[in-house]
Amino acid sequence: MKFITKSLTTVAIAALAVSFSASTASAENARVYHWKLAMTWPTNLPPFSSTVYKFADDVKKMSNGQLIIRVDSKNKHKSPFGIFDMVRAGQYEMGHTASYYYKGKDPNTMFFTTMPFGMIAPEQWAWFYYGNGMKYMEKVYNKYNIMAFPGGATGNQMGGWFRKPINSLADLKGLKMRIPGLAGEVMAKLGVTVTNIAPGELYTSLERGNIDALEWVGPGMDIRMGFHEIAKYYYTGWHEPATSLTYFVNKRKWDKLPDHLKAILKDAMKANAFDMYVQNYDMSARAWKKMKEKYPQIQVKTFPKEVLKAMKKANDEVLAKYASKDPLFKEILQDQREYLKMVREWTKMSDFLYLKANMYNQE
Ligand code: CA
Repeated sequence: MKFITKSLTTVAIAALAVSFSASTASAENARVYHWKLAMTWPTNLPPFSSTVYKFADDVKKMSNGQLIIRVDSKNKHKSPFGIFDMVRAGQYEMGHTASYYYKGKDPNTMFFTTMPFGMIAPEQWAWFYYGNGMKYMEKVYNKYNIMAFPGGATGNQMGGWFRKPINSLADLKGLKMRIPGLAGEVMAKLGVTVTNIAPGELYTSLERGNIDALEWVGPGMDIRMGFHEIAKYYYTGWHEPATSLTYFVNKRKWDKLPDHLKAILKDAMKANAFDMYVQNYDMSARAWKKMKEKYPQIQVKTFPKEVLKAMKKANDEVLAKYASKDPLFKEILQDQREYLKMVREWTKMSDFLYLKANMYNQE
């Protein structure tokens, strides 16, 4: 009898323990998380802003209202390039921005956006998710208390709008151009006067001849800027072949989330990254059709071979300079180059030769 009593007590305590931990878990599962996300973009800048709003809406629905993310555009927080600092400090739990905006803080952030003459978007995704891309993102960002995730891509960007054609390297000397980032450093080495002008003033600057050329994105996003009305040479790309954007999450806030919400966030970021790419693909195809019809004088051109070769050489020199100062930069650069060498073979065999073969059927 004594044995039975003792055993019953043990069972009762065990049962109590189970119900206690179950109720703790269910409290965790029932807790509603209210987060804020700061994006670099204004409220109405599709496909960037539209994808972020959709992401937040997806997370709300997928979590059955347990994770609510309020999206603040730059119109609200007024700090488009302060996303890194605001997420790092925990002022915002999340951010959406472009990693290469923070190259002044850490040059290694550039690898996760795009590199001149580097990977195109599908190659870069393969590197992110199945190569070492996300591993390096973690290595670069964790020291800043930030988790970073791929956040959508524009795909190949156009080389820019030029008012005069570029027929030789000499035509670049003294040319005034708006072209930011690494590509700006490359152009400067070739004698271009690189300027940085606020987006709202670009059209007037180009129209008045304060600048001779500029790059923006591609037809889908360029059409709203109106550059095609005042510049007739539209050069194909070399400098931003993928241009992925990035989600930031404050690491302490991330660590406190239950696993199912982490999984929802990851999947919603990934799904909407893909959505941005296809949305921009569609926008560019439609915008180009319109531009071409209304402004038939626009000429699509590719830079001459000597210019492209000089750009590549200058780019290699700029990268070598960064690599000599930072072993991690050197390591990521090497990893990207090796991955590109491998993945490009397949891109050439598959998409490139398919397109080439089909040119004959489209004349
Ligand atoms: Ca651009």
